[in-house]
Amino acid sequence: MTLQSVLIANRGEIAVRIIRACRLQGIYTIAIFSSDDTHSLHVKMADECFSLGSGSVQETYLNIPKILEILDKSNADAVHPGYGFLSENAEFAKAVEASGKIFIGPKSEIIDYLGDKIKAKNIAREVGLPVVPGSTGFVHTFEEAKQIAEDIGYPIIIKSAFGGGGRGMERVNSVHTLRSAFEGCQAISEQFFGRKEVFIEKFIKNPRHIEIQFIGDHFGNVIHLGDRECSIQRSNQKLIEEAPSFLDRNIVDELGEKVCDLAKNLGYVNAGTAEFLWKDNHLYFNEINPRIQVEHPVTEMITGIDLVVEQLKVAAGEPLSYKQDEISFQGHAIEFRINAEDPYAQNLPQSGKITQVIIPGGSNVRFDTFIYPQYSIPNHFDSLVGKLIVWGKNREQAILMARNALKELTISGVKTNIELHQAIIETREYQQWLISTGFLNQINITKILRNYEYMKIAAISQVFELFNISQQNIVPEVPKNPIRNMWRESARREQVR
Ligand code: ADP
Ligand code: ADP
Ligand code: MG
Repeated sequence: MTLQSVLIANRGEIAVRIIRACRLQGIYTIAIFSSDDTHSLHVKMADECFSLGSGSVQETYLNIPKILEILDKSNADAVHPGYGFLSENAEFAKAVEASGKIFIGPKSEIIDYLGDKIKAKNIAREVGLPVVPGSTGFVHTFEEAKQIAEDIGYPIIIKSAFGGGGRGMERVNSVHTLRSAFEGCQAISEQFFGRKEVFIEKFIKNPRHIEIQFIGDHFGNVIHLGDRECSIQRSNQKLIEEAPSFLDRNIVDELGEKVCDLAKNLGYVNAGTAEFLWKDNHLYFNEINPRIQVEHPVTEMITGIDLVVEQLKVAAGEPLSYKQDEISFQGHAIEFRINAEDPYAQNLPQSGKITQVIIPGGSNVRFDTFIYPQYSIPNHFDSLVGKLIVWGKNREQAILMARNALKELTISGVKTNIELHQAIIETREYQQWLISTGFLNQINITKILRNYEYMKIAAISQVFELFNISQQNIVPEVPKNPIRNMWRESARREQVR
């Protein structure tokens, strides 16, 4: 069968992304929106829209009865949940299944199973994937927590068993803060995820975050689409992602195979991601996200495969369009999450009217967004306003592409983290690929932003110098052995510009 119409149970850039994939497949698109999103791009782009009314996220995009009611009223065959919101909500997936419509994702039982991070770790162990050392079940009491912490050794991390989005994680360095962290994590888990169960893991200091993209169909085929590295994070949330990761290709092949085994064991259908932490040549399985991921475009850029289109095809009951040996990887891609937030003020989310947007272009540059000039960013959603994705034939070229694209990208009216990205890519650590999830904590953000400012000023003063020289009709002398440094090169680029 082919899908005729899809309801998109999401907003923002991912709703726009899904509409585009549907259009490629000739599928009619149905958007839902809260009153704050009346002027959002996904509403303008969809073929049909249904209002969720006004109110909090709980009353709108997380309101299962209301969304089911719209689904019933609409002629949609299927629901695409995107990421965040209800994408990992097994109850929602189950209700969609019960209504006779298609949930574009794995079966509700699989979502339910993987939502429990302990169960996911146990099944990973079964296929021979190493997991982060820690408790093998929920930890219910402080005494139990104390014993486990002593067994595995401090520092440890207490995690919500049903958590997500970087929330519900608490690092503990010694027994002195264990009780407050344990009880605090239980309370946050209850508040955000409706389940207070927590578990304990060894805290891995400054690991790298590596993940494998996979997809399965209804015929038992599962393939992987290689790896991504998402080590540049803040508050356990990804900020810059790239593909491939720094890992040796043999290791990735082996890892990919094991992840496919795991997915096959589960009877997994549709797209998913297995996340790992890497430290000192050891890889540890972390969790599986049973949905499309924010950073899926970097995989698309190096494989040439449209992952959302594949999701739609698989959901319609078609077999996967590719076999494992037909997947090849070209070059390097980097994604920058453009957030409306103030990097100078603890990343405080920003809202308000956008006065100007200049979107970078040229070949191998992609910008996925839902903002446009005069659009007002509402204040109670995620701060992600766009994703800049660039491709180069190797990492060095991709960084060069990123430097130019970030310079072109202009968003005025609200503060964004564009300058932070510009500053990060000029650091030695980023350029030499010596990064870890602790990178942004270890460096002084204000300092790298200031260095970036100096770099710009130095570039401008060199332009003035050149201008003065050319006024005097003197050809500037080119040094015999020009010292290749960041400032000089940036000044040269500025001159060319
Ligand atoms: P990804 O895993 O796709 O790289 P994130 O983990 O950053 O992306 O999550 C994607 C989005 O979904 C973010 O906006 C995040 O806040 C949100 N999110 C993820 N998991 C949950 C959850 N369990 N509850 C609420 N929001 C979530
Ligand atoms: P979420 O479901 O919120 O995405 P994850 O378990 O995937 O949570 O962890 C998100 C991030 O938190 C990881 O990418 C990593 O930076 C950090 N993290 C998680 N577990 C550990 C650990 N055991 N040690 C150190 N850092 C961790
Ligand atoms: Mg995660």
